[in-house]
Amino acid sequence: MASVERRPLVVGNWKMNGLRKSSSELLRIVQDGSRLPRHIDIVVCPPATLVAHFAGLARGSRVRVGAQDCHPEPAGAYTGDISAEMLADAGATMVIIGHSERRSYHKETDAQVRVKTLAAWRAGMTAIVCIGETRAEREARQTLEVVGRQLSASLPEGARGETLVIAYEPVWAIGTGLTPTPDDVTEVHNMIRGKLVDRYRGAGESMRILYGGSVKPANAKDLMAVENVDGALVGGSSLKADEFLGIVAACQ
Ligand code: PEP
Repeated sequence: MASVERRPLVVGNWKMNGLRKSSSELLRIVQDGSRLPRHIDIVVCPPATLVAHFAGLARGSRVRVGAQDCHPEPAGAYTGDISAEMLADAGATMVIIGHSERRSYHKETDAQVRVKTLAAWRAGMTAIVCIGETRAEREARQTLEVVGRQLSASLPEGARGETLVIAYEPVWAIGTGLTPTPDDVTEVHNMIRGKLVDRYRGAGESMRILYGGSVKPANAKDLMAVENVDGALVGGSSLKADEFLGIVAACQ
């Protein structure tokens, strides 16, 4: 099959960080990001409290705003939860689903990730589905098995390149400063690509697969050069515009 062009995508996950005064970082991402090559997509996922505000600030720019989780139902008696429709209404165009912090602290299962992905699509958003092995699983050489199983169980039928992004995030690399070797990333991303193509045919070729876990400006070039790495999901380094844009620049 002829190779498909995939636009690089860099997504910032602010986690539970950010107040209205953090708008200055977003504005710098908007302003300085406008000077970087146009073929790279840039998304910032602030906490839900800032989605509408950031979407307003980023309007008319190349920067898109996303969210970090959504409830599977569109509305109802779910105190404290936020639906995909609400996030889309606030201006989010993408939503991170199944981040390892949600899988671990909120005990989210692959089945829940699957229905949340359907909810994102129902609301017209792209789902960024996170998968990745723990340190114990890597040490037991179970990485490919674990990631393959998460991928099959977390994804619904009917995914398209515009509606689904996969983020491979080894749990042991998140926020630790540790990263897998480029060879390790190659092995996992090639396996993910193969499974996406088996399941979704041509659409599987066009889906973007991000690497996430301690991506910094200093290591981004090597990680982004790996086959089947189509961009990055960035936590800590997305909170500072300079660092985040350094990673965006490394995707050229
Ligand atoms: C993340 O939380 O998705 C992440 C990749 O975090 P960090 O970049 O801080 O490792």
